[in-house]
Amino acid sequence: MGRIFFRGVNLIDGEHKPQPNSTVVVQGQRIKAVGKNGDMPKPNARDVVYDLSGKSLMPGMVQCHYHVAYANVGDMNDIDMKYPPTYLTLIAAKNAELLLSCGYTGAAGAGSMHNIDVTLKKAINSGMIPGPRFLACGRDVVTTGDSVDCHPNFWKMGMDGLARVCDGPDDFRKAVREEIKMGVDIIKLYPTGGHGLMWDEDTMTMSQDEIDSATTAAHERGRKIRGHIISKKGILAALQAGMDVIDHGDRMDDECIEGMLEQETFVVPSLYFPWKVVEEKRRTGSSDWGGVDSMERNLEHSYEVLPKANKAGVKLVIGDDFGIASMPHGEYACELEAYVKGAGIPANEVLRWATKNGAELLGMGDELGTIEPGKIADLLIVKGNPTKDITILQDKKNLHAIMKDGEFYRNELTPSRARLQRAA
Ligand SMILES: [Zn+2]
Repeated sequence: MGRIFFRGVNLIDGEHKPQPNSTVVVQGQRIKAVGKNGDMPKPNARDVVYDLSGKSLMPGMVQCHYHVAYANVGDMNDIDMKYPPTYLTLIAAKNAELLLSCGYTGAAGAGSMHNIDVTLKKAINSGMIPGPRFLACGRDVVTTGDSVDCHPNFWKMGMDGLARVCDGPDDFRKAVREEIKMGVDIIKLYPTGGHGLMWDEDTMTMSQDEIDSATTAAHERGRKIRGHIISKKGILAALQAGMDVIDHGDRMDDECIEGMLEQETFVVPSLYFPWKVVEEKRRTGSSDWGGVDSMERNLEHSYEVLPKANKAGVKLVIGDDFGIASMPHGEYACELEAYVKGAGIPANEVLRWATKNGAELLGMGDELGTIEPGKIADLLIVKGNPTKDITILQDKKNLHAIMKDGEFYRNELTPSRARLQRAA
């Protein structure tokens, strides 16, 4: 089998400092060799060689909070009442390809209606449609009168789309088992309000025994569990239960960081939206968003605590509610800029969140997320150096090649001319 040589690249391996003038060799599905240009195997006539000075090679990114079927959501009804499941599934298929085309070779669902994540994952894995590797999530598992259980009773709705409403530990256990039966890999809970939901961030919308029971039920069957959590109280409750992923995680402090480190909890800070709104307010002096002042307070707190959490080694990952009206699908890579320019995290470390940490959240840390021999070849070839300018990743035209499983999804590279002539 011929090999693919990427020579002369700036190597961003997902872990270390960038290494200029490197070579990466791919054979079949996997990375065969990584090193300096001088001490690498020599290509033969069957190999394809790309000489890529001025470009960077990095692992494919992982979107760790993904609502693939959200379509221009302006209010709760838009999520699962506006379009029939069949139409939403088509939207999801388009978004899955869009995500891949933006350089994301992996994704973890954070709540999907009509079991769309599971269907989509099957279609992607069978080769029917292009898309990222998928950790499939199901319905929002919520308590009565919380979150997506927001419709008046006289509407007589079961809300089969997005909501699984339950109360009490037994009911949560059953709901989690139902979701797993439907094929999901990760369960989504709503332990607190806040972040645009009907209850405020200080309100616990699940009791500790409910969180514990759901978490145990997921772990008993080898599945992960994540939660929408916007307060310190909520973070500590999630840590006590042993949840795997804390979504949003506003108001974390040293005590939370300690618990997260101990349990290797993943945290999705999702700063893109507040960063975007607050930056605009600072630029223009005003904002249309009602809660902009409290958003700004939480954002400032995150700017202070995230560098600390990052230094301490908390498993931070990227992802946000793309698909809501103010944050359309396709803007995915803009999120990285918020951490670099807002929170002051070095770009190379934000790229580690997007690659190595993301692969670990998928449960594939041994197989993906860094560029090293033996790993699966999910990788990007990018014009320029995103560790110097993170915004490079926002323009798809700068993604000259996207490879998943050792196969090009996109390849705009030209093989080395000298090699072609010699091979002919
Ligand atoms: Zn979400």
